[in-house]
Amino acid sequence: MGNVEIRRITLSGVELTYEIERKNVKNTNLRIRNDGSIYVSANRRVSIKEIENFLYMEEGFILNAINKVKKRRKYDPKTRSYEDGERFYYLGETYTLRVERSDLECVDIVDNEIILNVRYPDDKARKMRLLSAWFTKKAGEIIQEVVEEVDEMYGNRIKKSPDITLKNMNTRWGSCNKAKYKISLSYNLIKVPLRCIYYVVIHEYAHLLVPNHSADFWAVVSEYMPDWKIARKEMRSYE
Ligand SMILES: [Zn+2]
Repeated sequence: MGNVEIRRITLSGVELTYEIERKNVKNTNLRIRNDGSIYVSANRRVSIKEIENFLYMEEGFILNAINKVKKRRKYDPKTRSYEDGERFYYLGETYTLRVERSDLECVDIVDNEIILNVRYPDDKARKMRLLSAWFTKKAGEIIQEVVEEVDEMYGNRIKKSPDITLKNMNTRWGSCNKAKYKISLSYNLIKVPLRCIYYVVIHEYAHLLVPNHSADFWAVVSEYMPDWKIARKEMRSYE
């Protein structure tokens, strides 16, 4: 194993994190992983400046590859076709949609398929409504369970249980208003793995103790989730 370092770089105004692994390689190599993370392997003798220049040169390729990952993962109900074979994220896994005609309208998950039973399979708006309602309901149930658990973990470290609101938030996963003791969480959390939902809830609860992202803040998060960095990184690919 070489040693791995995490650094930041801004490409066309987009701030990105990348990993550098020092290895016995002759050339500097670049890879965009399936989750959209950037990985570079380089010889120990190659300076950070040289690696950065290399990344600037590959800027077009990098941003393009990351956008592709994001598009694949984006769940925007309006841009969906709701036809057989379409893929959806649910708790970090990919599911394929299967539309069935049925007078009893409901959604089932069987193996890696989401089965949408609908009266009029050609009615796209109807399919969107049914499926969105199902995702919203599942998000409510699952997030509620995580919140209850995290609330108990924080125990009497917090003044009282905060008010939790679930919202359609497209640019963030959650937010916390310490003064009002209010936490908002995004319905989109239903797309990400369960451990990432825990991370977001633990993160927002930690803001009830420390409002900023200082070292003190991350120390609180670490107490409840020592490997929060992995979860945070993983979430970025669902943004
Ligand atoms: Zn925060």
